[in-house]
Amino acid sequence: MSQVIFAEREDQIYEKGGDKPFRISCDKQSLAGAVSQRACVFCGSRVVLYPIADALHLIHGPIGCASYTWDIRGALSSGPELHRYSFSTDLGETDVIFGGESKLTRALDELIPLHKPKAAFVYSTCMVGLIGDDISAVCKMAQRRHGIPVIPVMSEGFKGNKRAGYYAACAAMFRLVGTGDTTGIPPMSVNLLGDFNLAGEIWIIRKYLERMGVSVVANITGDGRVADVQRAHGAALNLVQCSGSTMELAKMMQETHGIPFKRVSYLGVDDMAQALYDVAEFFESEEAMAKARELVRGELSEIYPRLMELRKDLEGKRAALYVGGAFKAFSLIKSFRLLGMKVVLAGSQTGTQEDYEELAEICEPGTVIVDDANPLELMTYLIEKDVDVFVGGVKERPIAHKLGIGFVDHNHERKLALEGFVGMLNFAEEVHATALSPVWRFTPRKARPRLEALS
Ligand code: SF4
Repeated sequence: MSQVIFAEREDQIYEKGGDKPFRISCDKQSLAGAVSQRACVFCGSRVVLYPIADALHLIHGPIGCASYTWDIRGALSSGPELHRYSFSTDLGETDVIFGGESKLTRALDELIPLHKPKAAFVYSTCMVGLIGDDISAVCKMAQRRHGIPVIPVMSEGFKGNKRAGYYAACAAMFRLVGTGDTTGIPPMSVNLLGDFNLAGEIWIIRKYLERMGVSVVANITGDGRVADVQRAHGAALNLVQCSGSTMELAKMMQETHGIPFKRVSYLGVDDMAQALYDVAEFFESEEAMAKARELVRGELSEIYPRLMELRKDLEGKRAALYVGGAFKAFSLIKSFRLLGMKVVLAGSQTGTQEDYEELAEICEPGTVIVDDANPLELMTYLIEKDVDVFVGGVKERPIAHKLGIGFVDHNHERKLALEGFVGMLNFAEEVHATALSPVWRFTPRKARPRLEALS
């Protein structure tokens, strides 16, 4: 183990239990050479803004940055699908020498009349940060020429970690908020922040809220529309799900427009129910609360018998999770508990001190908590803790498959809705299918001998 964990990373890993008090170092630059699982600043901003479906997303940089995020996400739209393109200025060697501003101007002048977007986001990448193109000035001039908001996203890949990308995206969106007409917005209204409508999840949540008599003004950003973001300041409350990605926008809206926010999660039955109760409580509406209770009762009675059936097979199995933001991990731990399973490893790319403290509190003794892990660390713990199911994203999948461990995709690429009560059932079915797959009879799990070979 000592050879696997770099000395510089030891304070980013904590195993609960024993005499060791909780301490973890986080929210800092990845260690050079450690092959972090993290994405860059640009990718962080693109993840957040990508689902705004009627906006043009233009990546000012080399083509490689664009291919990194080209339509690999599962954010669905009920209307326009401009977000599925990943336009790029395709900067090359000549642009490094002579600058890329004219190329950016030409790209905007070609794309805006062709696609008629409601706004354009222009993403700055590493190369642009190095050569010093003034993308703000180019955007400003394009905005004047085309009469739509053209917004620079200051997301140079090298200038921090993925969290800095979230901030860049929030700062860009905040330029839209407050510029639209709020006429007709009812008093019981919310914005949904930090939900990306993967596999249509935001539609499930909107239906729940509608059943309680609560209107949604803006989806930020799943199935998002520019005009909705522009009038989002008319809502009474911001519900912030993926707190890492959109909390900054919620804070900006609170400061400038006086809109309070609540941190919620739509994953797992406990947190989903609590989110609905919190909304009813905020509006001090007995009617909405009664409807929320009835909704929860009805939905639970539909899924509970099947959940308990699945639990019989899953009881005692061990799970590991490595996710983008730590807040998602809380709901996942509760969901695994409902299925009778034990979480032995919980990690995230962008957790904060506060997130990890909360995580340590709800984890059982022996659970490893890790910030900004690399493949070698994850592989080591997956073997050492004898994990049955690994929950992660596109970069974690091959690690699980190579080790012969069941994998559940919980990232933006997935095609299965995991939010809401129906999402909990989907999650349980997925965990069951992968943990008990007959394939493991032919591809047995790589176990301790591999770990010994590493040490
Ligand atoms: S912005 Fe930089 S780190 Fe990110 S994909 Fe492009 S070159 Fe790589």
